[in-house]
Amino acid sequence: MKYDLLIIGGGINGLGIAADASERGLKTLIVERNDWGAGTTSASSRLIHGGLRYLQYGEIDLVRESLRERGILARQRPHLVHPISLLIPTFQNQPMPGWMVGVGLGLYHLLAHDPLFPRPSALDVRDTKMREPGLTTDRLTGGYIYPDAQIEFPERLCVELMRETLKSGGEARNHTRVRELRQNAEGAVIGALLHDELTGTDEEVEAELTINAAGPWVDVVNRTLKIPPPKLIGGTWGTHLVLPDRDAGPKGAIYATAKRDNRPFFLLPWNDRLLVGTTDVKFTANDPDALKIEPWEPEYLLEETNHLFPDARYRESDIEATTVGIRPLPSTDGKKTGAITRRHFLVNHAERNGVAGIVSIVGGKLTTYRSLAEEAVNLALKLLGRPLVACKTAKIEEIPTVETQIRDAEASLLRLKRDGAYARRLIALYGSSYREILARIEREPALGESSSEYPDTLTAQVIHAREAEQARTEDDIARRLMTKF
Ligand SMILES: Cc1cc2nc3c(=O)[nH]c(=O)nc-3n(C[C@H](O)[C@H](O)[C@H](O)COP(=O)(O)OP(=O)(O)OC[C@H]3O[C@@H](n4cnc5c(N)ncnc54)[C@H](O)[C@@H]3O)c2cc1C
Repeated sequence: MKYDLLIIGGGINGLGIAADASERGLKTLIVERNDWGAGTTSASSRLIHGGLRYLQYGEIDLVRESLRERGILARQRPHLVHPISLLIPTFQNQPMPGWMVGVGLGLYHLLAHDPLFPRPSALDVRDTKMREPGLTTDRLTGGYIYPDAQIEFPERLCVELMRETLKSGGEARNHTRVRELRQNAEGAVIGALLHDELTGTDEEVEAELTINAAGPWVDVVNRTLKIPPPKLIGGTWGTHLVLPDRDAGPKGAIYATAKRDNRPFFLLPWNDRLLVGTTDVKFTANDPDALKIEPWEPEYLLEETNHLFPDARYRESDIEATTVGIRPLPSTDGKKTGAITRRHFLVNHAERNGVAGIVSIVGGKLTTYRSLAEEAVNLALKLLGRPLVACKTAKIEEIPTVETQIRDAEASLLRLKRDGAYARRLIALYGSSYREILARIEREPALGESSSEYPDTLTAQVIHAREAEQARTEDDIARRLMTKF
């Protein structure tokens, strides 16, 4: 089979590119060796943010781009991306004085210039404690509240992008690994050898252009070239803990500075639990598959959480899950991990190291996947010698609010004589596509029963995951339903 575009890696960036490319008329195939979004994308802090911290490093353009994308995503996909208020508590003798935090937030607000995200405000100690009764009062001087956005389930966004790719005529195969890139006599990349990890079958595919969007694995894929290019990724890894929600713990989202090493970290309400992270450590091994959480990481994150919320007393035995992933940052020498740019780069190997037919993606945050995809598809059209078709992915359509969608879903469920309590969850997972679940129940009422295997799930959702969302394994189903992480 011959494609215009082969995309390697079904994380947020690969899928963003696939959806945009097939919408713009390129015959596209995307392959993912595991499941959609199962790589770095599911190990992130799940924020769609401008990156307040990047202001410190003078990355104004990146912050502006990210804030613009935040506004687009929160309007396009409000069931997945929603504004969230973060509290930055301030303390005596902290490395960055409170007033400087206030100046940074003011600049952040000006750069966003977006009515969906209100102006930050300063709080005194009393107001801070009213918001967060469990917060330590030791040296507390108050805090700031500012808005950003959270994407609770980037895995679900990946599934949406995969389905959009299929809808506009593209192909998408999960559990399909690129074993080797194929080159012609002149050295140009002309396709790849694919391996289906579940059936064990191999297949050769041809592509006029290949985009390597394998995130931290970009260099591993490029190493299958006859003359591998210089290393592109110099990632840093980060770990998160999933903890149970506790009365004495945070009530809302917190952005704090760690006592041990003055690093910023988040405490975020997530999926009815608390997500705490992250660490930021240079990854120096050659194979991202060798990545493992180090014992000091959970210890450090628990210690910092308990320092801020002493009565919550989280312990190692409370940890429900951990995630770890490598930020696919550009390879750099000797920079402090926090100072490595979070900007993305498209590497056209024809220019970089004389190998035509392949482009590698370096970097690219969740937040900026759409603009990265737009850039990548513009480049693909140029390299393929096609006319530049306008990108439509920034378009914002009028859609009902999430609350209206929930009310409609409640009413429909009750009409089908099913418990309306599922409505909120259905909208959080599917947005307006929840109707596909209801249509299944209408056709076969037994599918409206609760699933015996997956909590808070209707049987119709499990069938839908298999039939409409490419869930090929039990883990894939749990990832579609966000019942295991
Ligand atoms: C700890 C941490 C916190 C973060 N927090 C945030 C945040 O809050 N907000 C934000 O915007 N960004 C955040 N990021 C950054 C963001 O998560 C990543 O930059 C982004 O998810 C990268 O997506 P990707 O598609 O490039 O990579 P990935 O999601 O890793 O996708 C690459 C895919 O390629 C696949 N692959 C590899 N080799 C092959 C092969 N041979 N054949 C086929 N497929 C292959 C992998 O299985 C993987 O799924 C965070 C990152 C980390 C690590």
